[in-house]
Amino acid sequence: MNHLTIQELRQLLITKQISSVELTRATLQRIREADAKVQSYVTVTDELALEQAKRADERIAKNENVTPLTGIPFAMKDCISTRGVRTTCSSKILESYIPQYDATVTNKLNDAGAVLVGKTNMDEFGMGSSTENSAFPATKNPWDLTRVPGGSSGGSAAALSANLATFAIGEDTGGSVRQPASFCGVTGIKPTYGRVSRYGLISLVSSFDSIGPFARDAYDCATVLEHIAGHDEKDSTTYQSPVPNYTSTINKPVKGMKLGIPKEYFVAGMDAGVESAIQEAIRQYEKLGMEIHEVSLPHTKYGLPVYYLLLFAEASSNLARFDGTRFGLSVSENAKDAIDIYLQTRRAGFGDEVKRRMMLGAYALSAGYYDAYYLKAQKVRTLLRRDFESAFASCDVLLAPISPTTAFKIGEKTDDPLEMYLSDIYTVATNPAGVPALALPCGFSKDMPVGLQLIGKHLDEATLFQVGHAYQQVTDWHKKLPPL
Ligand code: GLN
Repeated sequence: MNHLTIQELRQLLITKQISSVELTRATLQRIREADAKVQSYVTVTDELALEQAKRADERIAKNENVTPLTGIPFAMKDCISTRGVRTTCSSKILESYIPQYDATVTNKLNDAGAVLVGKTNMDEFGMGSSTENSAFPATKNPWDLTRVPGGSSGGSAAALSANLATFAIGEDTGGSVRQPASFCGVTGIKPTYGRVSRYGLISLVSSFDSIGPFARDAYDCATVLEHIAGHDEKDSTTYQSPVPNYTSTINKPVKGMKLGIPKEYFVAGMDAGVESAIQEAIRQYEKLGMEIHEVSLPHTKYGLPVYYLLLFAEASSNLARFDGTRFGLSVSENAKDAIDIYLQTRRAGFGDEVKRRMMLGAYALSAGYYDAYYLKAQKVRTLLRRDFESAFASCDVLLAPISPTTAFKIGEKTDDPLEMYLSDIYTVATNPAGVPALALPCGFSKDMPVGLQLIGKHLDEATLFQVGHAYQQVTDWHKKLPPL
């Protein structure tokens, strides 16, 4: 049961061939067996899951309020608040923090009857591309346990890939859904900024953060997004516009649609195996009748510096709230005054990468440098956004690689933060621009999965699902399972 899609399991559930309790038990059993190796979960919620599964079975028995997600086990990235279940952001500073309230996404999944089996590992506060920057043991890639699963939502991607959940929720600030999806061979979407409520998400960069699902295919991702998206009065940055029924338009043919290939994304430095998988996918779309056009996103080279500058700045401000007086860890031994408590707590509670980014952010925001760095980066951000707008004047969707390489070895980049940042080169520009992007498995290079991304217009997730689904109807990369 563990490797089936939401769609398949849903059929089995509503025809009563299986119960949600059975399915949930099978998932928990699989977690006990395989997660000692993968280490994708920080917390497994056995009891709560079985309780929710029982309630889902009751709903199905009474045929009351049954949704496509009712009774389906899922994993949630540990930066999304779950009432009564610890939410750590994989940081020592929140190691024992138990939220008093649910995030809107948690609430919505609960209302839909989905079953939370656990909270997944991540780079601390979302800062990283490998899930190695975690206060917990690093998550391993189910395709090769000596390699990283990607990050920062590496735990969610690995859990799904190893069949330790049927879908998983991630969060993408600069690639944290797409890059681990690509490294682990699963499908995932970073929705338009503001499509999914951030209420209850522990912020990294409030103006970039987008919560999105990982699932076995584009159809399942569409199903989950339908349930978690929408306006929320608790998050004023959410769009008012109604959430389309993505699955109802997903089968529309793609013939005649225009696929843009941004030329700046195909430059030296990409692995040959990655490049050939991407080129093959482009040919596949040509066969499906799409028109292929080269487009230009001229400011792409500024994507990485703009992204990291703004990230450092916003994150240093967001993380100021963790000071030992409100949430989680508090170190007050022999403290002389409040400042001393703040300093001791933050020194003991934050990891190196988080400290590095907060210091750089405070620097970029300081009086003497604000104009030169922060303000300048905000201006270039507008140029990045315009790049996408003008590309979409002539095409429906863009296709690009996600990462220049497949999953790298554990420890390979931990000593060199710049090397690690460079691995985000193809994913970071979409977040300052706010546009949505869907990650799809598109082949293998030396036995490791390769992913591609389809980038869409603001609020046009429907087209991404349609174009992604068309590809998955004629390829089976998304059906491959890791040897684990
Ligand atoms: N790898 C990126 C970073 O380190 C992505 C983070 C994210 O999307 N949460 O900032």
